[in-house]
Amino acid sequence: MRYKDLLKQEQPILYQILLQSFKNQKIPHAFLLVGKNARQSAHFIAKSLICENDILACDQCNECRRIDEHNYGDFIYLNGHDETIKKNNIEYIQEQFSKSSLEGKAKIYLMENIENSTVEAMNSLLKMLEEPTEGVFAIFTCQNLNRVLPTIQSRCQIIQLLPGSQKLLREELKKADIAEDDVNVLSELFTDYDECKSYIDSEDFDKLKNEVYHFVDDLYFHRENLIIDVQTHLLKDFKDKDSIQFFLNMLVLALRDLFHVKHFMNLTYPSFKSLYERIDDQEENIINKINLILETEYLLSTNANVMLLMDSMMYRI
Ligand SMILES: [Zn+2]
Repeated sequence: MRYKDLLKQEQPILYQILLQSFKNQKIPHAFLLVGKNARQSAHFIAKSLICENDILACDQCNECRRIDEHNYGDFIYLNGHDETIKKNNIEYIQEQFSKSSLEGKAKIYLMENIENSTVEAMNSLLKMLEEPTEGVFAIFTCQNLNRVLPTIQSRCQIIQLLPGSQKLLREELKKADIAEDDVNVLSELFTDYDECKSYIDSEDFDKLKNEVYHFVDDLYFHRENLIIDVQTHLLKDFKDKDSIQFFLNMLVLALRDLFHVKHFMNLTYPSFKSLYERIDDQEENIINKINLILETEYLLSTNANVMLLMDSMMYRI
């Protein structure tokens, strides 16, 4: 499905506002998207401003692709999630956009999570918005509107996004060009892109996934090695509670796959399929295992000893 069609379904308010303003060529100089998962919608607006093919972004032309890759001459991108936005960042935008256009179309700056800006940066931004330059467009996102200066808000077309859906997050993750297993796991365990960003291409995530595979393999085929393997690999490499909880959640998804594989449903870890197919376990037993893992995950959150709880789970599973 094209992103445009997905947006029409998932974010109908945003879609209608954009369609009307682009059709009538009354495009606001500044957009402020409020909500989680605003990343791709914000990029969609940027693409719509320069797309070669259509009123709203086609997502296929060269220009659209270059925005996605942050490789368009007149496009500046900042994300307050990675680093606080500072006054010199805003001055850089002003300086760049005072020069003549590189691409001969709109000049666009896209700033995500603008609530994470210093007061000085917000004030500079306000000045820029008060004296808009023809052909320069601002696209902002924030999760907390209360933390954005009201004077900035009043200069923007504010669009409240609907709660993010798994579908949109999946689309975003696919764009990050990661394995299908990873797209599935991350979109199951998180609700927005910023939350799972640090796991994309992370070595730890790959390691944990590997540990999930070995856990299931040991559980069904090398039962006698289970505890020692977990102690010498997983618990040696990951000592913090968060990682172990994350591991347990990933493990639950793998056990759930055991049902799915029997019923020819989509798997969270398609790459584990041949392992799953060798496993023959009663549905009731699988449910008991999942419950035990979830119970352990819950107990971990109440600040108990990681080692002890994991050992106890492995004896009982
Ligand atoms: Zn296009």
